[in-house]
Amino acid sequence: MQENRSRPIKSLRRRGFLAAAILLVPAILGLAGVAAAAAPAPLPWWKGNVHLHSRWSDGADFPEVVAAWYKDRGYHFIAVTDHNRLQEGEYWSALARQPRDNERLEQYRKWLGGAAVQTREQPDPKTGKPVVAVRLTPLADYRAKFEQPGRFIIIPGEEITDAAGKSAVHSGALGLAEVIPPLKPATVQEAIQGHIRAVRDQAERLKQPMLAILNHPNFRAGVPVEDLQAVPDLEFVEIMNSLPSDVENTGDENLLSHERIWDAALAWRLSQPGFGVIYGLATDDSHDLAARSGGGWIMVRAKSLTPQALFAAMKAGDFYSTTGVRLNDARRTPRELAVEVDPEPGVTYTIQFIGTLAGYDRSREQDKDEKGKLLPPTKRYSPDIGKVLREVAGTKAAYQAAGNELYVRARIVSSKPKKDPDVPGFFETAWTQPLAISRPAPAASN
Ligand SMILES: [Zn+2]
Ligand SMILES: [Zn+2]
Repeated sequence: MQENRSRPIKSLRRRGFLAAAILLVPAILGLAGVAAAAAPAPLPWWKGNVHLHSRWSDGADFPEVVAAWYKDRGYHFIAVTDHNRLQEGEYWSALARQPRDNERLEQYRKWLGGAAVQTREQPDPKTGKPVVAVRLTPLADYRAKFEQPGRFIIIPGEEITDAAGKSAVHSGALGLAEVIPPLKPATVQEAIQGHIRAVRDQAERLKQPMLAILNHPNFRAGVPVEDLQAVPDLEFVEIMNSLPSDVENTGDENLLSHERIWDAALAWRLSQPGFGVIYGLATDDSHDLAARSGGGWIMVRAKSLTPQALFAAMKAGDFYSTTGVRLNDARRTPRELAVEVDPEPGVTYTIQFIGTLAGYDRSREQDKDEKGKLLPPTKRYSPDIGKVLREVAGTKAAYQAAGNELYVRARIVSSKPKKDPDVPGFFETAWTQPLAISRPAPAASN
């Protein structure tokens, strides 16, 4: 059922106001100014992908081709996040690594104008045989071709590609001016915390806006939910990553899905003092524009298309993640989460409000192998976590907090099958950010 909520209409019309208005024009202008300030025009939504690769690391495509691909598809911003590298300095990309590379080089030559493409022969590091390599254009040298105020920007970044023992821990570091090397720490928690701290330190030192995102927890089962629960500074995590292999958004018999990891982390964190909400992102993690790129992105509601405004909106949770469903509104006030879909003709929508109540069953069971050895990551959490608290068929709905919810978030599932799904039966979906409702009192200091 579709729910319609009437909003209070702000109006200056008052009975008997006209005569006074004629006499008090300056006062009326002042009043109109107050009314306008109280009900500002809604801010625009900006479409962005903040996780992608190019030939600067293990991506298949030349950096300008990547930028053009996203701009042509209506994205307003991308963050380039190659592995452990900023797109700067002199870097030669060998062609033999990727299939179809000669074809790509020919296209690139046509695209850029043949003379602009520098090639050389260099020995393959493994075989020693000569291979053709192409000099890549640094971001600073190509961004001006694409960037247009209010239309498209490119944010410099890096995927800090790290490991704690055998566990892969990757973090998106957006807005960087200097590369952050992997830390190779002893534990996953130290890696997550270390990446966040390194990004914050650089942002403070250089006085530039930057932001850190924990990428794909399920990549090689690297980051169990307990580590998301344990790092107080964690603000952002990928909940939907479009990479075709290895990254298990939907989980399996040994892995929680990314969405369930998000819920289990939120429930745990919000039921104790000192921990905040984690916001969830959908990204491409594109390595090859011909394979599943464009599968997940974020929509950020910000006053302008600048890293500063986008990051500030994201830190305030004013964005949603999507694999296709678009929203007109995703509004969070202290006691209400309201959603309005921008519907596509012929597509139907189900709005689910998902949350965990205070006092939920916090027990968890760890899986064991046949010899009884505990297996990370843990698998079983109480069904109390991430329950559908309310479901509405339609394009508009709001959830009013009863007060005993730790948090509530919305998932909007469409009837339109997702292109290239992880698993069959996956439909285009959007996820709003969680609204924290019931918070424990801060711990008494003594
Ligand atoms: Zn990664
Ligand atoms: Zn990646």
